[in-house]
This record gives sequence, C-alpha cells and structure tokens, in this order.
Amino acid sequence: METILKLGAEGGSLTLLGERTNDEKWTFYRETQEHALADLINDEDSDLPALLNQKSKLIESDIKEALKRLGRNWSNLYPVEVHSDFAWLIYKQVIEDSVSVSNRNLHRWQRLCLEQNPLFELAQMLCTSNYTVVLSGAGMSTESGLPDFRSKDGWWRRIDPHLVANIETLEDNYELFREFYTYRIETVEQYSPHVGHQVLAKWEKEGLLHGIATQNVDGFHMAAGNRHVSELHGNLRSIRCNQCGREAEVSRFLSKESCMVCQGKLRPNIVLFGERLSEIAWAQAMEWFQAAELVIVIGTSLQVAPANQLPQLTSGKIAYLNMENSKESNRFDITIQGKAQKLLVQLDEMIQYIRTQERGHSKQVESQMYQKSEIIRGIGFQVNNINQIYKCRHLNYVGKTSDTKELFTEVISCELLRLQIKNRLNSIPEVVRERGYQIGSRYGLVTTNHSEKASNRREERFAISLFNLSKNGKKFEHIGKILDYQVPLRNSIQDKGLGKIDLISMKDDQIYLIELKIKENKETILRCILEIATYYQVLSKSKFLESYSHEFEHVTTKSIQKAILIVEGSKQHQEMIKLQNGERKALKKLLNELEVQVYCINPESLDVQKL
Ligand SMILES: [Zn+2]
Repeated sequence: METILKLGAEGGSLTLLGERTNDEKWTFYRETQEHALADLINDEDSDLPALLNQKSKLIESDIKEALKRLGRNWSNLYPVEVHSDFAWLIYKQVIEDSVSVSNRNLHRWQRLCLEQNPLFELAQMLCTSNYTVVLSGAGMSTESGLPDFRSKDGWWRRIDPHLVANIETLEDNYELFREFYTYRIETVEQYSPHVGHQVLAKWEKEGLLHGIATQNVDGFHMAAGNRHVSELHGNLRSIRCNQCGREAEVSRFLSKESCMVCQGKLRPNIVLFGERLSEIAWAQAMEWFQAAELVIVIGTSLQVAPANQLPQLTSGKIAYLNMENSKESNRFDITIQGKAQKLLVQLDEMIQYIRTQERGHSKQVESQMYQKSEIIRGIGFQVNNINQIYKCRHLNYVGKTSDTKELFTEVISCELLRLQIKNRLNSIPEVVRERGYQIGSRYGLVTTNHSEKASNRREERFAISLFNLSKNGKKFEHIGKILDYQVPLRNSIQDKGLGKIDLISMKDDQIYLIELKIKENKETILRCILEIATYYQVLSKSKFLESYSHEFEHVTTKSIQKAILIVEGSKQHQEMIKLQNGERKALKKLLNELEVQVYCINPESLDVQKL
C-alpha cells in the first residue's frame, strides 16, 4: 500500500492510498482520521460513521474518479504528501477546480506537485532550451505494440537475430535473410506511431525540438511527421541493391525480385550486424548533439555503440527516460523511469501549462506569495550547495515579500552578506581545464551564418559580433579588446552544470571575465553577480593565463576582473539605475564585496559606460 495523496486539516487527515496490482493497475483506498473531517466527505448514500478512522475501498484504477470520491473540496485541504507518479495528474485536477482553491493553497500544491518533480523540471528545461535533441531506442517503438526483435520474446522462429541480420547470411543464405526481413517489414506495417511519436512531431513544428537521432529502423518518427530525423541504423522500408546500391521499391523486395539494373540481391537499407553506420546519418547526429543545450534520451539502455556515445557530446543537460533505470544514471542530469508515451504526453501538458502561466505573468504573482522567512530559509539551504547557488530560483524573483514588503533582491543580498558569501564562494575549488581554455578554431573572423539557422542563441551571436569587431581592431571603452567568447569551464563531461564565460577582454594590464546579458534576458543583477563570481572561482587562473599567454604580457592572476555587461534600457539596466539612486543598498554592498564591475553597452553605438 502506498500513499498517493495525504491531506491535512484541523485535527485530522484524509489519505488516498493505492495498491499496485501489477505494472499499471492500481486499487485506491481512502483512509480518514478524526471526526473533524466528517463534514468534508460527501457520502449521502453510505454509512458515514463507518468510514471514519478506517480504510475504505474507493474504485479501481481510475485516479480521477478516486479523487472525486475522496470528498468535496479535497483540493482546499492542506496537501501534505503526493506520490511522485501521480503528482502531475493530481495537480491537473487541482487547477481544474481552481476556483475553489485559495491562492495560498494553490501555491502549496505547486510546491508539492511541481517543484520536486523531475518531469516538470524537464518541461521547464524544454521551454528554455534553444536547442533540444532526442535519441530514441527500442522502448519508443515497443509501445506501438511492435515486438522488440532483440528480446527473446520477440525472436523470429526462436532464432537469435544476430545469426540472421548479418552480411554473411545475406551472401550465403539469402533465402533465410529475405524471409526474416519480409517478416520484419510486414510486422512493422501492421503497427503505427503512437501518441508519444506525435508529441515529438508537434514539438518539432513548434520549434521546441531540433532533431531526433534514432536507433529504430521502423520509420515511425518520420511517419509521425518529424522531418529532422537521423536514422542511425537505417530504415526497414527503404530497399537498395546490395551490389550496385541503387534504390528499389519495397514491393520488389517483398515479391522476391532482384535488382532491375544488375540483378543483384535486394536488401533493406539498414545497418546489419558487423556493418558500419551511414556516415551521413552519423555526421548529422553528431552535429545536433554537439550543438544541443538539452538532450533527451528515450527508451534505450544505451548498450549499442556508437549511438550510445551521442548524449555525451552535448555541453548542456541530459535527461534519461526509460522503463528500466540506467546503471550509469550519474551520466544524466535527470533520470525518469516510465513509459515513453505517458511521459511524453505529460511533458507536453506541462509545457502547455508553463506557457499559459508565463502568458499570465503568474511567475511574478507566485514570487509575491513568499514571506521573508521562507526566502531566508531557502537561501540558507542553498548556500550549502555553494557552487550551484547562482542557479537558485529565488535570485530571479522580482517584487516584494508578502509580509514585510521588502524587495526580494534586498532580502537575499542582505542574507548572503550575513552568511559571509564571499568566504563561501572562496571555498569553491578551481576546475583545471587540462586542454586549456582557448578553443583553437577561433583565430580569424568567426562567421555566424552556418549556425544562424540551426541555433537561436542570440546571446552567443551578440558575443560573436563583439568578438568579430575586436578582431577588426575595435577596442571598447573600459573593457578594451574582446579576446574570446563562450569560454568553457568544464574539464571533463563529469563536470556537470559548469557554464561558459561569455566574453574575455583585455584593457591595459587588466583582464575581464564578462557575463553578457542581452536585452531580452530577464535575469536579475543579483543572479548575474553570483554567476560571474562563481565562474571566477571555478576558473583555474594559472591555466587561464597560460592558455592566453600569447595575448597577455606582464599580467598576474590579480589582474583578472569579474564583470557584467548589460544592454542599455534592459531590465538589468533599470535595476542598476535604482542601485545608483540608493534604492538597492544591500545589493550595492554585495556588488562591492564580491568585486564585480558592471558595464553597460548601447546596442546601436556600442559605446560602453561603467556603472
Ligand atoms: Zn543492382
């Protein structure tokens, strides 16, 4: 018996319990404690006292119905515990009858159902990522009903596929080979893409997804409507001649005919055991995964090389969705166990929800609901994870605390100073990037054309344009000449969550590590300060100077400065104006304490001023 949902109320509790009968089936029970809850339960036709202080069977397997029968106004009780498998389903019910839910309680539901929910975290990443790619495997197709021909249950005539699906069988026992693939093609034709495939196709149309590399040969991603698919292992329904390579109709193969041109043996255009991957498909996949900010691995145990190497090519985040947990879950930022179809559908619902929320500016409303003590507690908790503190979501809150009406930025800055943030940041160890910080290919002008279409990274493009100007001799006021952009901090793929320094510049004997914020960026100055201060700590100063030794002379690690470059008229600029007017005292103190300099660039004239 597992707790699906526990609700508290004055003097009692109401719990929805669930018993897992097998994989997807549940039986739900209601458990009530204390009579104080009696009036919340609507059981006109049942013996109410008999239900109190005891378990009662509600209904089998339908969570929606079970919630309804839990009692009227259940969503207005104080939520105490939510089962992670049901978090999203329950939250959907809460917002469906949100008329009756108070703002305060809605906020509790959000915290319980969304904030610690890895799937929701992934949905948020999907919304913010500029370049998302998917790697899919057999688990994606089995839900269409297609048997996994590699698993023993799916074997054809109880023959190990390794013995048939190879080049030797094609050459020496073509009859068997053709029979096997006729069976495989006919099997695939009986099935079709499922809703999960359709979700991925929808994401591609909406610009949320840039490409799919798949190990599946069934062609379901294309059939569902995705256009950017790299079929690493080929496609069963595409036929070619094994001798001359010409394409042929699938019907020709199925009717046991040979190549029209050379009479050679026809075969599916797939990668047989012992054959190499198509270079075109592989190069395409590599390009996508290298450019990716977010990689989602779906339904593959990552046992088959070289496809299993693709996720690690990203310098962004990796999410792993599969029925079985991976043995190497430490390779991933997010691991979610479950069926592909269900997870993709839920992700899509969450994305819709996040978008409506954003349209309604409810992010601001949400942060307004925090009390001062809650913020301070949150920060106190986050400083224990000091190298990630700049990612703490409180930092981006705008507005004032609900009780003391103080600015979030001020409350947090004050608390960080009290917690001796400087000493804490100093404790972050340097990560030495063994191969150096300079990326070799950046000598000469960098063109953005090749990546412009593929990538929407406006910040990077802005950085590149400034870099190119300096290549042509431009020296900016205060910050001088831009030497490099997007300098990576991580040494190995194990160094998760380490970002890039947007710009490196040099003026006289000073070197600036610059965090660049384009105008559209909504982050607060507070977050920018902590981000660059963290990057500064992580950077190996001696290795850094060595990497750029051809540029620097007479500089020491003391010459390295932390700076933020913001755009005139931006949200950050408005904040800085208030700071200069004396309206952000704690923030100003923090800025000085962490020795971060702020510069502002005019997007037209490119004049830089010091703030
Ligand atoms: Zn031929």
